[in-house]
Amino acid sequence: MVASSVKILLIEDNSAEARLLQELLKQAQSKEFSLVHVKRLQAALQELNQDTYDVILLDLTLPDSQGLSSLPRLINHAPSLPIVVLTNTNDEELAIEAVRQGAQDYLLKRQVNVDVLVRSVNYAIERKQVLETLRTVNETLQTRVEERTAELVKAKELNQFKSEFVSMLSHDIRNPLNTILLAAGLLQNNDEQLSKEKKHNHLQMIRSAIKNVAQLLDEVSLIGKADSGKLQFQLSPLDLEAFCRQLVEETQLTLKDKHLTLIFASFGELGEAVWDESLLRHILGNLLGNAIKYSLPNGKVTFELFGQENTVIFRIQDWGIGIPENDQKQLFQPFHRADNVGKIPGTGLGLAIAKKCVDAYGGEIAVNSEVGVGTTFSVTLPLIKI
Ligand code: ADP
Repeated sequence: MVASSVKILLIEDNSAEARLLQELLKQAQSKEFSLVHVKRLQAALQELNQDTYDVILLDLTLPDSQGLSSLPRLINHAPSLPIVVLTNTNDEELAIEAVRQGAQDYLLKRQVNVDVLVRSVNYAIERKQVLETLRTVNETLQTRVEERTAELVKAKELNQFKSEFVSMLSHDIRNPLNTILLAAGLLQNNDEQLSKEKKHNHLQMIRSAIKNVAQLLDEVSLIGKADSGKLQFQLSPLDLEAFCRQLVEETQLTLKDKHLTLIFASFGELGEAVWDESLLRHILGNLLGNAIKYSLPNGKVTFELFGQENTVIFRIQDWGIGIPENDQKQLFQPFHRADNVGKIPGTGLGLAIAKKCVDAYGGEIAVNSEVGVGTTFSVTLPLIKI
């Protein structure tokens, strides 16, 4: 609805015409009109910055703007304000073009009387309001459609991810189960012929296959817990440096025949702080294990700890096979393994777990790697002092 008092900005360089319109509006009985008159487009733009209006009456021949060029500038400046174009009888075509380009209506000056003027102004305001409403509805619909599309894409991706997850998991479980079946079969069918040593080997294969499955299931269940927000913290006071040294020693034991130099160093103050030992083990154990696993024989792995005021940085560096750039973005996705792993065993879950644990801490994990040069993982965790 058009309000009972209507504020008009008249842009007209001819003072006599302006006065005439002013007079006509005074005769209007249906409502009150207040009119501000400017002679140039520039003045109109300034006026629009300072005050609010209900409608613009625009003469198409102005000293500083000719023909239709005023229109886009006004529409740009005040997109929701209706515009009625005023024109002389001989340029009606121009006026029609103005309406095509966004004006709400046009008035031929010589035919203007109070009724025509009031009707046109009201009509312009109402039409613009309807258009604005339509535009808002359209925008809302557009946003809804976009949101819904994004939801559907996400749901589809999630479904795809779930089925990939299940198929990777089945594959990774089937492999050790096959080993178990095979070794058990060998033991059963060749019991008499097998030497004690062979039997021992087969049993060992069975044991390690079972261990692999158990570890895989532990890892999957940890990811599941993290995804459903059930990863729980158990913070307790911990001598971080001693903990890391111990972790390095334990890792050293797993090196077996792989000849590698493992170096640990700690810098800065760590103070007395609380940590969740199990989450730390998942993060650092996986990173250290990978650094070793993907190192070349006779290589070196360094593990450095930097104590800072409010954070601790753990940096684990190797000079091993490195990670191709393409794979680096997806490293933290479960089951993702880079193209260059060759026969090096792995499930592709370690980094996904490390990342989830780092996230649970509110920390950050970053990787810097080059194929054939080596890899550095840096983890930054907040220091919770006691
Ligand atoms: P995996 O069980 O395969 O080691 P992870 O989730 O721990 O699984 O790591 C994912 C992949 O990231 C690995 O398969 C490997 O391609 C790559 N990667 C991780 N750490 C390193 C590293 N230190 N050097 C080279 N590649 C690495």
